[in-house]
Amino acid sequence: MIDKMYSRHRLSLPFFPKGEVWLAGAGPGDLGLLTLHALNGIEQADIILYDALINKSCLNYAKVDAILEFSGKRGGLVSPGQYEITRRLIALARDKLRVLRLKGGDPFVFGRGGDEALALAQAHIPFRIIPGITAGIAGPAYAGIPITNRFINQSVTFITGHDTHGKLPKNLDWHALACGSGVLIFYMAMKHINKIVGALLSAGRDPNDPVAFISNATTRKQQVVTAKLDFAIEIVRKKEIKAPAIIVIGKVVDMMAFLKHFQQQWETVRHSSILQDDREARHSSAHAYD
Ligand code: SAH
Repeated sequence: MIDKMYSRHRLSLPFFPKGEVWLAGAGPGDLGLLTLHALNGIEQADIILYDALINKSCLNYAKVDAILEFSGKRGGLVSPGQYEITRRLIALARDKLRVLRLKGGDPFVFGRGGDEALALAQAHIPFRIIPGITAGIAGPAYAGIPITNRFINQSVTFITGHDTHGKLPKNLDWHALACGSGVLIFYMAMKHINKIVGALLSAGRDPNDPVAFISNATTRKQQVVTAKLDFAIEIVRKKEIKAPAIIVIGKVVDMMAFLKHFQQQWETVRHSSILQDDREARHSSAHAYD
């Protein structure tokens, strides 16, 4: 089916040389958000090391003899350390395999892709970076929130709610975030939501600013909940909003009320997920989306 959709030759998509590592983003969940470059890498790779938050259905496009290896890092669960993953990428490339490292969203957005690329460069392993659609852009879009609007905000800030030890980063400038950026987009922030909301309010953010929580964005489990900032903590508790989630804070959230296309997207995701379920059995080693 994919053969009919595109031809590598016609699109000049690159061949995957042996001994190379491609560091690709798989997008936030919906299979339709995979780029052609990422698909091209999946089809040619000898081994795919994939993260927890990718849509596992994309692995169905791998070669039948490709090795599919889960290398995700998820807080609280047993997972390979970053150092081991990087070492393995280097060793596999030196064994002359075509190695695809597949990460959720975009590999360079809060995804440690930069660390991995740096290690490959230092080891003189040839590599290619394939950007992906990040959850902080696709999630709001599927919820009907444009992250910029020329009449509302002139800046948007991406923030992580986790440092390398899983704590709220110490070096965040809460005053600058509260007063200097029209739209704030938080990743990995559910665990510390109380502290984040408290810090923003203390630093002067408008308590009436709308907030949207978008969990499992672009998947059939997508959930969107909105509230005013000063009610955000309570709504998380009431609606039991869980990770993975993107949090958008700023007036653009109000546009959701007028952009009802979320419903339409939802139907599309549900439809494509039926196809995905059929295919999932083909790769028993593929983990279900969690
Ligand atoms: N590189 C990824 C981000 C990895 S950090 C990207 O560009 O999207 C992991 C965090 O991303 C999660 O804690 C969550 O905040 C966010 N995330 C990833 N996928 C998501 C999804 N489908 N829905 C909502 N949030 C998601």
